[in-house]
Amino acid sequence: MIDYSRLPTSSAKNISVRVKGAAERALRQGHPWVFEDAILRQSHLGNAGDLAVIYDREKNNFLAVGLYDPLSPIRIKVLQALQPMRIDRDFFAEKLKAAQAKREALINEGTTGYRLVYGESDGFPALIIDRYGDTLVMKLYTSAWLPHLQALIGALEEAIVFDNLVLRLSRALQSDRLNVAKLYGLEDGQQLIGAGADKPVTFVENGLLFQADVRKGHKTGFFYDQRDNRQMVREMAKGRRVLDVFSYTGGFSVYALAGGARTITALDISEPALETLKVNVEKNGYEAKLVDVIAGDAFSGLMQLIQARRQFNLVIVDPPAFANSRASMRNAVMAYRRLVEMALRLLAKDGLLMMASCSSRIKADMFFELVERSAKVSGYKLDIVEKTGHALDHPVGFPEAAYLKALFARLRK
Ligand code: SAH
Repeated sequence: MIDYSRLPTSSAKNISVRVKGAAERALRQGHPWVFEDAILRQSHLGNAGDLAVIYDREKNNFLAVGLYDPLSPIRIKVLQALQPMRIDRDFFAEKLKAAQAKREALINEGTTGYRLVYGESDGFPALIIDRYGDTLVMKLYTSAWLPHLQALIGALEEAIVFDNLVLRLSRALQSDRLNVAKLYGLEDGQQLIGAGADKPVTFVENGLLFQADVRKGHKTGFFYDQRDNRQMVREMAKGRRVLDVFSYTGGFSVYALAGGARTITALDISEPALETLKVNVEKNGYEAKLVDVIAGDAFSGLMQLIQARRQFNLVIVDPPAFANSRASMRNAVMAYRRLVEMALRLLAKDGLLMMASCSSRIKADMFFELVERSAKVSGYKLDIVEKTGHALDHPVGFPEAAYLKALFARLRK
């Protein structure tokens, strides 16, 4: 449960802000971020979560209102642009209803696990809400939401049907510097509404059953962004020996089995994730003996499979984000190259490769070119089957919201 009286409140006095011309233009075009160095003047300093109102320099017209975030280079995170609106529970409730309406198609096909709110693209900067059946998991990426938590949760209760609400906090929010937990009595994995989320939650995706640990699992517990790619794998898997690299809890493995895969080899560094993978396989009625799990580092695991002269007919590679900062770009590119080369060495003739990237700094075109070039340099010829991007519940409202891309290709040997 949550003691709202312990949370910070936002100041009744809004911060009034003027920004550079380029930032004004970006706001007019709907871009949701104002960087620290775009700010020319502000009325006063303010605290995290105070509302910052940006006026244009020429006519003093309202441009946007957003969350002030003094600890982030993205200093103002826009909630509403061009048309002034009161930021309160009703405002959030309308945005939540709109987000829910966008996902109707998924709900209609019987999927009960999906992303309900994808940050800025749904009007909630630096905030994610994922649905796991009756359980919602809200992940905060900034302390600027804390003064608005009561309005936000009230809006959720008004606009959305659910039983349980679990809070997840980003690494930054859990860090010593911010110390949110200690200051306000909040902790990562805390259940804010309902009971029972300490046990795994179960949900349905494209007719398949999964369980997730929403309190301790990666991100919010499952990776909904790959749903459409998993469905493609299901359609390609018949009769194939499948290698699922960075399998996590087996999203791709279960879909491959549902599509008639002959065997699965799943590789991940997380043992608890592999335990859940086995549970997910059995939940859907497939025999555990079809699945071989290898716990360990993917790079050395792949090398061992190569040395053992193993061959597969479908190799899925879905690594974590390697490039989150500019400095890590070079290493990320090297890592992708090595993964492509090793995956191709393990592919039999006419085998299929699915190579994904969720590094937002590596743009789609660059990634596709990188995969194709890595294959060529290693002496392999690929026929591109499909290039994919974002699913319906991860709408790309502005360029920086695009991070996921995947290449499906067939190996010509
Ligand atoms: N394919 C998964 C999601 C993968 S997320 C799905 O569809 O659900 C990335 C995974 O990579 C995580 O499970 C993480 O445990 C794993 N991982 C991170 N570093 C790794 C490494 N060096 N070797 C193997 N697995 C790693």
